[in-house]
Amino acid sequence: MDNPQDKALNTVSVPEELHPVFLKAQDYVREYFSEVQSDPEKGVIKYSGERYILVRASAMSKELFDMMALMYSDRGKQEARDLSFNFLFDIAHSIGKADARSFFLKMGVKDPIEKLSAGPIHFAYTGWASVKIHPLSNPRPDDHYYLIYDHPYSFEAQAWMEKGETTDFPVCVMNAGYSSGWCEESFGIPLVTAEVECRAKGDRHCRFIMAPPSKIKDHIAKYSKRAYIKYEHYNKIDIPEFFKRKRLEDDLRSRKDQLEELVQKRTDKLTKANRALEEANIAMKVMLKQLEQKEQADKENFLTNIKHSILPYLNELSGTGLTPEQKILLAQLEKNVGKITSPLIGKLSSKYLNLTPMEIKVAGLVRDGVPNKEIAETLNVSLNTITSHRYKIRTKLGLKNKDSNLRSYLLSLE
Ligand SMILES: [Zn+2]
Repeated sequence: MDNPQDKALNTVSVPEELHPVFLKAQDYVREYFSEVQSDPEKGVIKYSGERYILVRASAMSKELFDMMALMYSDRGKQEARDLSFNFLFDIAHSIGKADARSFFLKMGVKDPIEKLSAGPIHFAYTGWASVKIHPLSNPRPDDHYYLIYDHPYSFEAQAWMEKGETTDFPVCVMNAGYSSGWCEESFGIPLVTAEVECRAKGDRHCRFIMAPPSKIKDHIAKYSKRAYIKYEHYNKIDIPEFFKRKRLEDDLRSRKDQLEELVQKRTDKLTKANRALEEANIAMKVMLKQLEQKEQADKENFLTNIKHSILPYLNELSGTGLTPEQKILLAQLEKNVGKITSPLIGKLSSKYLNLTPMEIKVAGLVRDGVPNKEIAETLNVSLNTITSHRYKIRTKLGLKNKDSNLRSYLLSLE
């Protein structure tokens, strides 16, 4: 049955049950755009007192894609296309949201369905496209929100078609962005739109599916089965994401933070391992030092034994009127004892020799071949004192009563 009001709804096509609410919206949107003030002298265009700007449609569509493709030619077609796509979607989604908010406030629209109904009509009056909402749509303010609609005269598809170009991707990305922004603002839930068919790529219509981001893929899959669209095609459909760049940047930042944390942890581990190594090194050094000291003590002990248990007897023996043969034997014996002890003595401190600091100085000068007189002068003592020191040194070194030359002996110690 024909409703006389139906004929009046000419800026949008919607299922019958939605006619009343869209008719109402059509009335006030028409009224809103009927009050126009164009003042080129000031460069001002106003609708109902609100300022608008005119933008040439192709500049925001085909020509922008071309320009980006040129600017990013070094990065390939796909990246240039993605950049244009995301950029236009973000801008249009933002404009859609802002327009909706401003319009609802100005016109006092509160009900979500009424808000939604103003969208397509506003869309028609601002020259983006006309809208045809399909009966399977289920616009509601929750997860089950589903809108399937066409934009019969999309400015974007037209921009391509007028240049005689057929694309291999849907081009009506601003349309998708604007309407998802408007509806998001109407229902207060995040919504995203994907264009599943596009006239610019040779399809019969520019068709869109709008749903919450978590549901959109399921809806597209169901739709593609109904529409007999090949699976590969459905899989290639771009699902725009509002400010994808921001999410990517956030992801990147969080990955960077994780990486820095990992590096910090590894550094801490390395520092700990280093510290353990240093401690082990110190322990090893202490052990080596103890071993050296023990070795030194053993040598000193050995030499002390020889000095106290053997040398005095050899000395005594030499004064007991030995036969020449016995003297030769004794001399050989002393020589052998010297051979055993001298390599050890050389590396030992003068502490073992029991020399006083003064005796060490005198011994040093004697070893260097300095005559007694000069030694006395150097050390500022009398010649007698030096003679006395030399005697004591000879005694301590076991050279008493022997013909051995003190200097040769001292040199042999080195
Ligand atoms: Zn399209």
